[in-house]
Amino acid sequence: MKIKLSILFSSLLPLTIIAEENYPNILFLFADDHAYQAISAYGSNRNNTPNIDRLAKEGMLFERAFVTNSICAPSRAVILTGKHSHLNGQLTNRERFDGEQQTFPKLLQKNGYQTALVGKWHLKSDPTGFDFWQILLGQGPYYNPPMKTSKSVDKITGYTTDIITEVTLDWLRHKRDPDQPFVLMCQHKAPHRNWQPGPQYLNKYDGVVIPEPHTLRDDYQNRLVPASTQSMTIDRHLTNNDLKLNPPRNLTTEQKSAWDAAYGPKNKAFEDAGLSGDALLKWKYQRYAKDYLRCIDSVDEGVGRILDYLDESGLADNTVVVYSSDQGWYLGEHGWFDKRWMYEESFRTPLLVRWPGITKPGSKNSKLVQNLDYAETFLDICGVQAPPEMQGQSIVPLLKGKNPKRWRKSLYYQYYEFPGGHSVRRHYGVRTETHKLIYFYMLDGWELYDLVKDPHELHSVYDDPDYARISEELKAELNRLRSLYQVPKDTRPLIQKAKKKKTD
Ligand code: CA
Repeated sequence: MKIKLSILFSSLLPLTIIAEENYPNILFLFADDHAYQAISAYGSNRNNTPNIDRLAKEGMLFERAFVTNSICAPSRAVILTGKHSHLNGQLTNRERFDGEQQTFPKLLQKNGYQTALVGKWHLKSDPTGFDFWQILLGQGPYYNPPMKTSKSVDKITGYTTDIITEVTLDWLRHKRDPDQPFVLMCQHKAPHRNWQPGPQYLNKYDGVVIPEPHTLRDDYQNRLVPASTQSMTIDRHLTNNDLKLNPPRNLTTEQKSAWDAAYGPKNKAFEDAGLSGDALLKWKYQRYAKDYLRCIDSVDEGVGRILDYLDESGLADNTVVVYSSDQGWYLGEHGWFDKRWMYEESFRTPLLVRWPGITKPGSKNSKLVQNLDYAETFLDICGVQAPPEMQGQSIVPLLKGKNPKRWRKSLYYQYYEFPGGHSVRRHYGVRTETHKLIYFYMLDGWELYDLVKDPHELHSVYDDPDYARISEELKAELNRLRSLYQVPKDTRPLIQKAKKKKTD
């Protein structure tokens, strides 16, 4: 009886403390493949995101936020566990996430928080550590998605981004316990390939010319082979489905008629024009960029609806709102779509945090931060101690406007999924505030970029004798980071183990 009572008290005690201390809620708004170049608060010259921008105006914008492994499932696993891919086991999109391991939602749940997850999960195993979850199956379609809960799988009619917003609002309004703090993860599928816009944005940007990025016609000279042997160019690798020359297959009659009304005339105009060469590249870029941006319009609208609800309900004052993406994205930079590389546009990711009363409105921070830091940050905000095996660093001091002297000076990155989609070779590397050293280890080839003189990363200076000293320093730093993060000398057995696990 004594034992039972102690269990009862130990499980109730945190709830009491949490309620009395008024710990904040966390709302994690998460997109998939959202380029920072497509957020107006980050200086986009291609679109406006007034609702996401609210978080920059009312909170902090991180100018140097990065990921550890620029691809969907691995990024999500890093965020949940606070550990690099080689330790959490999710090296590529192919593995099944080991939900038995420690995650920040589990720790918050144990400490009196209610935990909820809505939208894209993409980790194959069912979510663990959540009181409520409703997720897409795998990648999920843009229209009429089946969604899974702990009890059932049900197909929902509508546009997926809007549905994820609705389910999130429904949980906030009706499903949560108002006496308990929460962490709610609202995770969109958009703007992931193949960029199918929602009904209300099918004609947005018609007649508008979206500016092309500086490196759309990159010729991949002055770098090693990998940049030229990938398969993610707008010019050669977009399919007819990507370009919407074929309509989506799973639309309702009403949705199909809206789609045909929007794309029928656009596609006829394209066929009539008979484009080729650079004119065709221009057309493909416009078609691709507009559909991508249209998808973001629905995400931004959803963010606005949720922020409005926080205001109306009185939750806003005690809720930390975070906006981020699982990685960055090439919106035509280097001629590409997709991600995976340690090159800047996919290595970086948006990160905006609004914490009323703590974070200075309209502030910017240029410290090096990483998705590796999110778990420890969320635990810190909620007053829960992070386990020592987590590898990130809480960014709470930065959110409080402090300037810690011992903040990290460099970032570690490693990408594993090769052979794989888009043929990006495995690589690892180090980035400081001024330079980036990348090692394509399957080829034993190095690239070095001077980010101050060459921010678009068009010219590797690895073989330039003027950079010999910096190159040696960065190699030493890379070794230090690999040792700090316990990266095995040879990571190939990890991939083989993961492959074997998949077939087991
Ligand atoms: Ca992604």
